[in-house]
Amino acid sequence: MKLEGKIALVTGASRGIGKAIAKELAREGAMVIVNYNGSKEAAGQVVAEIRQDGGKAAAFGCSVSDPKATEEMVKQVVSDYQRLDILVNNAGITKDNLILKMKEEEFDAVLDTNLKGVFHTCKHAAKQMLKQKSGAIVNISSISGIMGNPGQTNYAASKAGVIGFTKSLARELASREIRVNAVAPGFIATDMTEKLPEAAAEAGMAQIPFRRFGKAEEVAKAVCFLVSEDASYITGQVLQVDGGMGM
Ligand code: NAP
Repeated sequence: MKLEGKIALVTGASRGIGKAIAKELAREGAMVIVNYNGSKEAAGQVVAEIRQDGGKAAAFGCSVSDPKATEEMVKQVVSDYQRLDILVNNAGITKDNLILKMKEEEFDAVLDTNLKGVFHTCKHAAKQMLKQKSGAIVNISSISGIMGNPGQTNYAASKAGVIGFTKSLARELASREIRVNAVAPGFIATDMTEKLPEAAAEAGMAQIPFRRFGKAEEVAKAVCFLVSEDASYITGQVLQVDGGMGM
């Protein structure tokens, strides 16, 4: 197993891609803290599924957009397990609207969760990883942050921000060999894409050379690679998991 003995925190792991990442990291031997915001029951179910498969996991509820709560979460993890080896910033939301209709609250909410949430967790995780002189961080961006997408000025800005953030942090932490990478999924079948209007889903599909949406598990495999020793010389990269959409 690639991640035996590692302590991993995955944000937004109650559903979708985060759930698949939590399960994949646990399958590779990591003890996984399953963060969630509102879905306590679903997060409990993820923990139960991991334990049933022989893995180790615990749930922790907190909104990544809340700086104090996020600090407490990282402190609690370090207090419980004495270290933090892996951080996956997966929590994310959409509030799509065309620019003329987009409310300031919609713009702010998406930036607060998708970009500032990454800042909050990384700030506190980096402190611990610098002490340990080891660690790996993966931030989930999006193909929207690379190519843009109509109706997603807020979301694309947050996800492009995540890429700049990732590269800057990778440079800051490289001297201690703490690696920071991003994964940019294309269209992945989850609750998030389920709520897309049919026309938007069809337009998305037409841009994918594979002619299918990806599976959450396909993103999870890429994340697992990047946080493992198999990627020991890789930092500051953006790995697109998009069926060829953004090539
Ligand atoms: P999803 O099915 O909607 O799940 C979102 C997850 O994020 C849930 O576990 C949710 O927790 C959590 N979350 C939301 N706000 C949170 C907050 N403030 N604090 C903590 N957790 C929070 O989304 P998904 O499709 O799996 O997407 C996961 C990530 O991949 C997101 O960053 C998304 O932007 C990115 N992505 C997705 C796609 C796609 O096609 N699906 C493509 C590119 C990138 P609760 O259930 O507790 O609310």
